[in-house]
Amino acid sequence: MTPKSQPKCAHPSCQCDARPDNKYCSTFCEGEAENPDIICGCGHTECTDNLVEEPFALA
Ligand SMILES: [Zn+2]
Ligand SMILES: [Zn+2]
Repeated sequence: MTPKSQPKCAHPSCQCDARPDNKYCSTFCEGEAENPDIICGCGHTECTDNLVEEPFALA
C-alpha cells in the first residue's frame, strides 16, 4: 500500500499538518486564512517554535 502524504495546513504561515477532514490544522487557521501575513497562533508546537526563534533583538 502507498502511504498517503500528509497535506500541510492551508494557512501560509502555518507549519502544521492539516486535519484529515480539513485543509487547515485548526479553527484558528480556518478563521485567519484571509490574513496570510499574520503569524500563526494555532498553538501547535511547530508554530510556537517559530515565534520563539523570531529575532526581536535586531530592532
Ligand atoms: Zn499553525
Ligand atoms: Zn494551521
